[in-house]
Amino acid sequence: MGLQGTTTSEWFNRGRDALVDGVSSGFRYWGDNDTLVIDRGEGAYVFDMDGNRYIDYQLGFGPVILGHGEPTVASAVAEAALAGTTFAMTSAREIEAAEKVKAAVGYVDALRFTNTGTEATMHALRLARAYTGRELFVKFEGAYHGAHDYVLFTTAGSPLDALGSRRSPVPFQVSSGVPEAIRSLVRTVPYNDLEAMERLLRDEGHRISSLLIEPMLGNCFGLMPEAGYLEGLRLLCDEYGVLLIFDEVKTGFRMALGGAQEVFGVTADLGTFAKSMGNGFPVAAVGGKQDVMDAWAQGGVTQAGTYSGNGVAVAAASATIGLLATGEPLARVAAVGSALMDGIDKICADRGVAVQVIGHPSMIGVFFGDEAPSDFRDTAKHDEELYSAVIMGMIGRGVMPVDDGLEPWFTSAAHSDEDVALTLQAFDESLGEALG
Ligand code: PMP
Repeated sequence: MGLQGTTTSEWFNRGRDALVDGVSSGFRYWGDNDTLVIDRGEGAYVFDMDGNRYIDYQLGFGPVILGHGEPTVASAVAEAALAGTTFAMTSAREIEAAEKVKAAVGYVDALRFTNTGTEATMHALRLARAYTGRELFVKFEGAYHGAHDYVLFTTAGSPLDALGSRRSPVPFQVSSGVPEAIRSLVRTVPYNDLEAMERLLRDEGHRISSLLIEPMLGNCFGLMPEAGYLEGLRLLCDEYGVLLIFDEVKTGFRMALGGAQEVFGVTADLGTFAKSMGNGFPVAAVGGKQDVMDAWAQGGVTQAGTYSGNGVAVAAASATIGLLATGEPLARVAAVGSALMDGIDKICADRGVAVQVIGHPSMIGVFFGDEAPSDFRDTAKHDEELYSAVIMGMIGRGVMPVDDGLEPWFTSAAHSDEDVALTLQAFDESLGEALG
């Protein structure tokens, strides 16, 4: 018996005849008996086809910061849909949304919209290569930046024994079908290791276009940067003429209105945004400093997209940013996240379980281990078996953290105090059960 009830199972089997494995994104396939089919979302909850309610901390892997079906965003989207969405020309709605992004994120002088985070990082990397005239880029071990060929190296979940030494890391290719030639353009380094970055730039800085970094690892427990790390990267980038790209697809409009750069006070040259910018609608952007963005204006560097800036997407962005800019939703996210973090800490202390509750109240990592991890290699010290047992216990009790052992839990402004209490109760009971 898996997670599927009778009706959900029927829908999954029907879905499997049309969609490969019954899903539209590989990460959603949890196995033949555990892959859920969702009927609807409402605030902090999702409901499966059997009517089972789950308090949702996946939130679509992050975007749904205001809760599912938030009415202001839904109305703005409905209005935009009725006005036509795709014109092969700029719309007023698009300009208004761009102004809102600019106002929210300090270092964005100019931007262009895309539809997904994958497109945004793909375009940011090309822009960086074109701007610097250099072909290589650096990515950080354990980080995910989308599904295009350049970034499918050493993402979270890569086998730790395939990464080579810390001194001389080997980029691990996580998918078949990525051309072998691409590997020669990627350099991987451990996160939070300034010396490793310095060594790499000393050796190859003149060939490196950019560092593509999630300022906190929103795809790997929500690992946080150690004091001085991001500042150190900024200085190194300046010294070697390398662009610093913050991938704020998860952190943007979630950690704070101005994203990670507002929280950490470090300014990137380019940023990529998506997820919480549109509360679940497919809208993303690449933005940054004027002289870098001008590389697009000067021509010769391709950026295009039929649906980029479409009416529905930008209406969702404007409405979402408008609400976030009031400060209330993110204050609620912080309160919910802090209560969960404190509660999990206390439950584990009471039960004598070593835990490190890491990350940020908007993106929480629960790491079962004696010491706080500082990079992806440290995830070897996480008790994944215990974690997995606890998560499955919670899902069985109607609470849905991300089932993937390395993905943080996302909080929303729609979670109530009662949801937090139920979540902590489910965590406590599931932990007790897992410990036996
Ligand atoms: N960058 C980061 C940091 C992400 O977390 C993700 C998605 N999880 C992406 C890029 C890719 O975004 P999308 O799934 O919208 O293509």
